[in-house]
Formats: sequence, C-alpha cells, structure tokens
Amino acid sequence: MYDIIVIGGGPAGLTAAIYARRAARSVLVLEALVCGGQIINTPDIENYPVEAHLAGYDFATRVEAQARGLGAEIVFERAVEVHDEGGVKVVVTEKGRYEGRAVILAVGSRNRKLGLPEEDELVGRGVSYCATCDGAFYRKKTVAVVGGGNTALEDALYLADLVDKVFLVHRRDAFRAEEATVARLREKPNVEFVLNAVPVRLVAEQNLLAIEVKDVKDGSVRTLEVSGLFVAVGRTPETAAFRDLVALDAAGCVVAGEDCHTSAPGVFVAGDCRVKPLRQLVTATADGAMAATEAVKFVQSAAP
Ligand code: NAP
Repeated sequence: MYDIIVIGGGPAGLTAAIYARRAARSVLVLEALVCGGQIINTPDIENYPVEAHLAGYDFATRVEAQARGLGAEIVFERAVEVHDEGGVKVVVTEKGRYEGRAVILAVGSRNRKLGLPEEDELVGRGVSYCATCDGAFYRKKTVAVVGGGNTALEDALYLADLVDKVFLVHRRDAFRAEEATVARLREKPNVEFVLNAVPVRLVAEQNLLAIEVKDVKDGSVRTLEVSGLFVAVGRTPETAAFRDLVALDAAGCVVAGEDCHTSAPGVFVAGDCRVKPLRQLVTATADGAMAATEAVKFVQSAAP
C-alpha cells in the first residue's frame, strides 16, 4: 500500500512525486512509456525560470533523477483503471494492480489528428506529429506545418533551419502562439504563411507528395508540394480510462480548480489533463506541487 500513487511521469507527475516524498509519503509513479511527457519533444525551453535555454529531454531527465533521488518509485506500466475499494484506491495496470491511499492523475494529453483519409497510413512516410523527432529526415526538402499554436510555430521555427522551405498552414489569420514566436517566424525567409486554409487531402504514392489546402474564405484549393507534413493542431487529454472515476468536461479534461481536487475524494489531478486556461511547463509543475500537497493532507486526515 502506497500513500500516494501518481499516474503519469511528466513534469506534473514527477513534481507531485518530489513534493510527496519531501512530505515523507511513500510514492509510486506509474508511467506508460518514458518519463518526461510531451516536454521531451521541445528542443529549447526558453520560458521556464532560471535557465534561458534548456532542452526538454534534459529537463525531463533531471526531474526524473530528482524524484528518484528523493525516493519515489517509478514503474513503467500503463494504468487502465482506478476504483475505490472501501477507501483504498486500486490502480489496475496492463500488468498488475497497486493500492494507494490517494491517487494523482497526471496523465497529460496526446496529439490531435487532422482526421484526413490515409493520415494514419502515412505516419512515418511523410506525416509526423513531432518536428524535433522527425525533422532531420526532411533536410533540404519542403515541408508543411499545420496549426497556429505555440507548438506549430515553434515546430516551424525549428524546421526552417533544417529544411529548404516551410509552409505554415493555419485555419485563421490570428495565432494562439505567443507574439514573439510569430514575429521570429515571420523573419524567416524560407517560411511561407498559408492562412485561412485547412488541409483537405493528402496526395501520396508510397510517400507523401503533396497536400491540398482549401481557403476557408473563398473555397479555392491549392496544392502544396511537400514531402513532410507536421501536424500540430493541439492535444487531447488522456483521460478516457478515468471517465467513470472523475468528472470530465466536454473536451475530456478533468474538472478541478486550482486546488486540484477532482469530484472523487482522494483523487487529485495535475497538469495538462486538468481544466485550465494555460498549459505550460510552469503550470504543470505548479499543479504537481498543489496536487501532492492536497493529497498529503488527504492521507493525513484519513489516517487512523
Ligand atoms: P493549441 O494552443 O491548442 O493550438 C492548436 C492549434 O491548432 C490552433 O491554432 C488551432 O486553431 C489549430 N487547430 C485545431 N484543430 C485543428 C484542425 N482540425 N485543423 C486545423 N487546425 C486546427 O495547441 P498547441 O500548440 O499544441 O499547444 C498546447 C498548449 O501547450 C498551449 O497552451 C501552448 O501554449 C502550450 N505550449 C507552450 C509552449 C511554450 O511555451 N514554449 C510550446 C508548445 C506548447 P485555432 O487557433 O483556430 O483554434
């Protein structure tokens, strides 16, 4: 029996583990793949306090080491269910079953798709959801990035230094991305903004050859000859397995305020899978601290 089981080993989950260990609670972190979450795909973190430049992978490695160093146990298994058995939280994974007094959901989110025919089949043959993972395959080629958020614009910036040309395709002419990032991208001579446009067709033989984009204002269709398409249209919370456990909003985010309490007693939430207006590294780690602090209080109050 652990005091606290953290589901998810991204920045929110690992920070929760650090805080819970510093409160002398036994902690198990369950991580489905590798620790670090989506930040491992960020080449350069510029907006986290203290260091002006830090690779996401290095950040993740250091936080994981910090959590382990403080005594958190990390097990690489995907949690598929959480239920309550007489006040004990039972977390079922693909391989086993763990018991805890409190649970913190820090499961993050996964890439949203465009939903175009052949999108899945072309992954690895032109379609990618990770510029830093796959960008090097497109050196000296032409690629498109779809999206208008920070991820899309940062991906386009990264790719502009690697490839011949980048089309930035966005369905509006205003961006969710930070102004500074948009301004930096506008300065790149090999980036063409294709605005008010959405991809409607992927043209491929063995590999991707082109994408067709439709102007949302006049309906005209333009073909962009690209060998790579980087889809960066946001993320969907990984909460489907917990829909019977806690209240979710329409987008699938766990409903909780700043105190990270969910609708289920003893179940807390942290990071990108929580309802919140700003999803950043700094807000994920802040959530981890808050969720752990509240979970510790819950465990103390429930102690016989
Ligand atoms: P996001 O901010 O939700 O942006 C998604 C973008 O994709 C939006 O521009 C959206 O258009 C567009 N989009 C959504 N569905 C689409 C579709 N079906 N077809 C075409 N376009 C579509 O997602 P994100 O960029 O992945 O960022 C997620 C969170 O992480 C954000 O809070 C972001 O600020 C944060 N983040 C921060 C950093 C950083 O600070 N360095 C880096 C990366 C991400 P509309 O604008 O028209 O809705």
